[in-house]
Amino acid sequence: MTNTDLFVSNMYKEVIKQYDEVSEFINLDSNIRERLKLPQRALTVTFPFRRDEYDEVETVVGFRVQHVLSMGPTKGGIRYDADVNLGEVTALAILMSWKSAIVGLPYGGAKGGVAIDPNPLSRTEKQRVTRRYTAELLPVIGVDKDIPGPDLGTDEQTMAWIMDTYSNFVGSPQPGIVTGKPASLGGSITRREATGRGAVAIANAALEKEGKEYKNSSIVIQGFGNVGRYAALDSFERGAKVIAVNDLGGAIYNRDGINIPELFKYIAKNKSVGGFEGADKLDDDILELDCDILIPAAVGGVITSNNAENIKAKVIVEGANSPTTLSADKILKENNVMIIPDILANAGGVTASYFEWVQNTQNYLWKEKELHERLIDVLTSAFEEIWIISEKNQVDLRTAALIKGIKKVAAAKLTRGLFP
Ligand code: GLU
Repeated sequence: MTNTDLFVSNMYKEVIKQYDEVSEFINLDSNIRERLKLPQRALTVTFPFRRDEYDEVETVVGFRVQHVLSMGPTKGGIRYDADVNLGEVTALAILMSWKSAIVGLPYGGAKGGVAIDPNPLSRTEKQRVTRRYTAELLPVIGVDKDIPGPDLGTDEQTMAWIMDTYSNFVGSPQPGIVTGKPASLGGSITRREATGRGAVAIANAALEKEGKEYKNSSIVIQGFGNVGRYAALDSFERGAKVIAVNDLGGAIYNRDGINIPELFKYIAKNKSVGGFEGADKLDDDILELDCDILIPAAVGGVITSNNAENIKAKVIVEGANSPTTLSADKILKENNVMIIPDILANAGGVTASYFEWVQNTQNYLWKEKELHERLIDVLTSAFEEIWIISEKNQVDLRTAALIKGIKKVAAAKLTRGLFP
């Protein structure tokens, strides 16, 4: 084992392989090439946790990784997932650096994670995990230092507990410590909807380039969390047909299109999409359904060399982080599937987070309409630039997005120079 092997995971290897290919392609300065493969800071914490009905105390492991500290504070979500490990969090922090750079945010990438399955946790258990994890992160987070946000398994309430815990330690309210908060604490509805709606806005722009219309497309969405559900709603509002969606509780299908507002009402009561009367139960693999656009919006690594050949969608919009493995990516490319990569497709989340943070730190409020317009403007401009890079270099959108992101981060690091 070399000294850097502790960061290695499957996702990390994939992220670095992509990075290596692109740095070679752009002939990245050798002084920066190795540096950007490793995070500047990686904190591992362990802390005690007691479940409601047991007396024994468990020890829980958590992480916070900050990739690049050259361009401003670091930014990135916190995920609760049983499989979270240092390598995965590092890979996701690196992706956050490219993502923030391609939409022009003054942030370096970060990510956090707690290795716990959030699904069986009661509200009080989740609150205890969150407060103690936040306390453990105190040395590395801060309004101008590192700003967490939501990710897999965390939500607005989780962000509220982080804000409350941090504010109690500091001794004054600190809304800017975290984004994706409830509106009552200075969060914005735009943030909640931004990732899903942003993904659809970019997909719409991509389809236009090919002379096609999003509104006449059939859409399949894997995952009905924060990203999937607003991608579904936006698709429905544009007149597209969302023919299938799933979540942990089931999968549903309706060839004529699912009524998404009705589905929202259903899940408000039933928690899962499973059993919704306006669609049939789906037994087939949702990823392999015949459709125009597939939006994986759940966990990473779901499209692999085992199922890529069976994918029938013509466009894949990566709402989730890292849903497609590199080997699958190659197969899909050969089959002429257009992939809108995660670092572009889901960049709406961190962009809306940036707006929320600016409002919090300036104590100034923008109107929701203004926020939404700014969000779409930032995302579609980034898409246009990436489209031009892809045409100019005859590369796919993922490579083009990485070219833009890596160049920007590398330029910032090289310009700051070496310390000491
Ligand atoms: N989890 C989001 C992402 O992967 C970012 C969280 C944030 O808003 O900081 O892009």
